[in-house]
Amino acid sequence: MRFPLLPAQELRRRVDTWAATLRVRPRVVRVQAMCRKWGSCSSAGIVTLAADLVMQDERFQNYVIVHELLHLRYPSHGRLFKALMNAHVPGWRELESARQDRGVKSRALR
Ligand SMILES: [Zn+2]
Repeated sequence: MRFPLLPAQELRRRVDTWAATLRVRPRVVRVQAMCRKWGSCSSAGIVTLAADLVMQDERFQNYVIVHELLHLRYPSHGRLFKALMNAHVPGWRELESARQDRGVKSRALR
């Protein structure tokens, strides 16, 4: 018998799928409370996602996950970074502008 996945596990599973698609390997993936950001990626390869991302729709989750995973390849939001965002999350720019409406006002991505 299979038990349903807990949301945080599901989020992690989605990260694994995206990591394979983007051919990146985060060293550690953390899901934890973050009040000012939806996600972050450290230069040491640690990807952190806000625990309450599980309450958001799948499209927004993918946007945050892909954004952070791409930082494992590109530290800044340059041309190549944006090209890959366009390829994998079409319409991400609308999500970026809608981001301010979700949760804390100036909640950001890094
Ligand atoms: Zn970023």
